[in-house]
Amino acid sequence: MPMPLALPSVEDEVLLARYPFLPQGREHMRSVLEKNGISVEDLIDEPWLEDVRTRGRLRLLDSVMHKDGADIATTVDMSTEIGRMTEVLSFLHAMLVVCASFNERLLARWIEGEATRADQLFGMDSENFELLAASYLSGIRSEMSSGSNEVVYWIPMADFIELCPRISGAYWHLANRPVIKGWVCMDAAVGESSRQRTARLLKERIREHLNQTCTDRMDRMSEEFAALFADPVERITGLLSERVQEEMPMTAAVRDDWPPCFESAVSELNQGVNVNHTGRVFLAAFSKSVGMSQEQTCSFFANAPDYSADTTSYQVNQIYERDYTPHGCSALKTAARCPVQPGDDRLCDQEWLSHPLKYIRAKQRSRYRESSQAAEEPEVGEEEVESANS
Ligand code: SF4
Repeated sequence: MPMPLALPSVEDEVLLARYPFLPQGREHMRSVLEKNGISVEDLIDEPWLEDVRTRGRLRLLDSVMHKDGADIATTVDMSTEIGRMTEVLSFLHAMLVVCASFNERLLARWIEGEATRADQLFGMDSENFELLAASYLSGIRSEMSSGSNEVVYWIPMADFIELCPRISGAYWHLANRPVIKGWVCMDAAVGESSRQRTARLLKERIREHLNQTCTDRMDRMSEEFAALFADPVERITGLLSERVQEEMPMTAAVRDDWPPCFESAVSELNQGVNVNHTGRVFLAAFSKSVGMSQEQTCSFFANAPDYSADTTSYQVNQIYERDYTPHGCSALKTAARCPVQPGDDRLCDQEWLSHPLKYIRAKQRSRYRESSQAAEEPEVGEEEVESANS
């Protein structure tokens, strides 16, 4: 992974408080604990640290519940030592709650919120941007663009190649970027400055770094220690499951009828998990085939890690206009988008079940029969599904 071989030093305590997730922030966090005589256990119930816990809860809530990423505003005064301590330790508290939950959905959502917040803050921080970028990339260069008075950033091709496949849109194809001697130009586009485009790329590294940090913590965390966070964990996981239910879009088809491949693509995107290209095209084409509106289909992508409203709307529109046929089972299996194993789902086990549309039609037919109380009709089979297709 092309990360910097040596991290640049960050001495500014305001910067370390504003961006506590920086790779350099770990050591600083430790020194803040030591300097104030605080143990990690104190964060749980020491009365004088109630402000830290409150800020940590708000930060966690904001990251997890905010659909478009966390709010970048903070009410903490970072010109004071207590303000900086509160900001750093509240981040630590939020991270410990997430890790103690051992809940992958909560983890993915929190990381997405923190990475989105970082993307927005980095994009605005002209003063510190090169230092921040150098903490996540193996190099960064800048030059003034000819014609306008804007800074344009160049980044090493190795970093770009590793990170760009995770972001949708023509801008992120290497063929569409100017490249000179192994450096890729991150010029301004789609209403964003070069700094904001580069910050979008950094978001992927931040996500990766946070994921690694939390996974390591979870691997080392004992059951006893995790149990100390039982109350905040219970509160946030309860809120998260309510939120996920609320956000799930209503669809034309009854959700119980959805084939597992469609259900898993929708659920994974909703939980902020990346779904591969085949899964996304399938999701849009299948939605169209079962009569969902373009708006409904676009809403399925709203929590995707690389979500952009414009790009999603353009790509979904292409699929609707060109009337793509959804992938069949064998193509989905090849692309690792079929989540079932033999025995998991009675319909998927049928020999005739070669397409997810057959699945949903079989389910709908069966539902219709049940509601018509025609229990004596024969078991659903291929011929019936085919006739339902005609
Ligand atoms: S067997 Fe087909 S319908 Fe069933 S989950 Fe797999 S891809 Fe979907």
